[in-house]
Amino acid sequence: MFEKILIANRGEIALRIQRACREMGIKTVVVHSEADADAKYVKLADESVCIGPAPSNQSYLNIPAIISAAEVTDAQAIHPGYGFLSENADFSERVEKCGFVFIGPKAETIRLMGDKVSAKIAMRKAGVPCVPGVEGALPDNPAEIIKIARSIGYPVIIKAAGGGGGRGMRVVHTEAALLGAVTMTRSEAQAAFNNPMVYMEKYLENPRHIEFQILADQHGNAVYLGERDCSMQRRNQKIIEEAPAPLLNARLRNKIGERCAEACRKIGYRGAGTFEFLYEKGEFFFIEMNTRVQVEHPVTEMITGIDIVRQQILIAAGEKMTLRQRDIQMRGHAIECRINAEHPYKFTPSPGRITSWHAPGGPGIRVDSHAYNNYYVPQHYDSMVGKVIAYGDTREQAMARMRTALSEMAVEGIETNIPLHRELLLDAAFMGGGTSIHYLEERLAKRNKDK
Ligand code: ADP
Repeated sequence: MFEKILIANRGEIALRIQRACREMGIKTVVVHSEADADAKYVKLADESVCIGPAPSNQSYLNIPAIISAAEVTDAQAIHPGYGFLSENADFSERVEKCGFVFIGPKAETIRLMGDKVSAKIAMRKAGVPCVPGVEGALPDNPAEIIKIARSIGYPVIIKAAGGGGGRGMRVVHTEAALLGAVTMTRSEAQAAFNNPMVYMEKYLENPRHIEFQILADQHGNAVYLGERDCSMQRRNQKIIEEAPAPLLNARLRNKIGERCAEACRKIGYRGAGTFEFLYEKGEFFFIEMNTRVQVEHPVTEMITGIDIVRQQILIAAGEKMTLRQRDIQMRGHAIECRINAEHPYKFTPSPGRITSWHAPGGPGIRVDSHAYNNYYVPQHYDSMVGKVIAYGDTREQAMARMRTALSEMAVEGIETNIPLHRELLLDAAFMGGGTSIHYLEERLAKRNKDK
């Protein structure tokens, strides 16, 4: 087992990884920017190294600085967390070339899955159901493009092969709008992802977002840890996640989960990963794979009792997974609310000093956060300041506990989206379960109109 791991991230996930390491008796090195120098989780680490100024391109994305920090501290492995460099194949390659272990899949796997066109081809080949569309990137020939759209049937969606973070996508409802949309998406993709390749698939009108968590070791073993429903989104950003997905049939869950695990065995996947699907009218359609730990991993941990970060570390160290599919039992229900430093309805970021932070507790409540009284939320990074996770024997109990937790939680000095969460936890449609990815936006639009 590793003696020392470097954590190449910040905020709650840096703390989460640190906790797993400490529990396993592994020393930690936290790298941080100047803006995060005073954060408590940085002080809690065995060692910390400042890797640059606040802007992430000079610190958390600064590959040479991170590698040097690993060298001077004698760390053996690097955990990238989520975001930042976690899905950067060049980073993982550099890490391994310099003699460290990258806690995540091989660079070639990150590359394969990072290109959505090659990912879809690989997944279709491995038997994972994909959104209907044509295989491969769109050609240049306009007549060909029109033919492809007709064969799929409108509405279609044009997506950037290198896209991410909900960007580089355009829905097309009519043939008249098609070629213009392709040209625009291409140039946006070139500008944003340095890759003009785009592809086309059927636009699903009212799907849910359901994703499967998998774990795969370096010895050919792969298991799935059930699914999460992350349909409560705004601008493709998740804000509430839950496990299991409400109203999902157990046979279908097992079938899709097994397909995902099998795909991992086929492509030689290693580590934790997530297969993201759109789910509509009882059918699953693969959209992309995330080759890292996800923000919403705690809901899966709560219902399976499996520590996903610990598993990532064990797998990276080359251990054989002792988990067998039949040992993985899902029990109860878990919900996560992402607490963001932002206006609850206008969504403008609200960085600054937290003058008072009161976190909830009690049965079934878990809070993953690096924030505290007097913590300063820097303006430079993502607005998430923590996550509240509620577990219960049933979905109703988990929701009731979440309502209590949100009513106890008090954050002053900055604005947060807690009021929005309180409303959503009382929303009749959400309480019924199975709302689509458009539900939140529609509800917010209605709210604005009513005012
Ligand atoms: P990203 O990597 O940018 O997150 P995804 O491929 O995961 O991109 O898609 C993000 C979101 O865009 C999905 O969760 C869904 O809301 C919407 N989306 C993507 N593809 C489709 C599709 N074929 N039909 C309908 N919505 C889609």
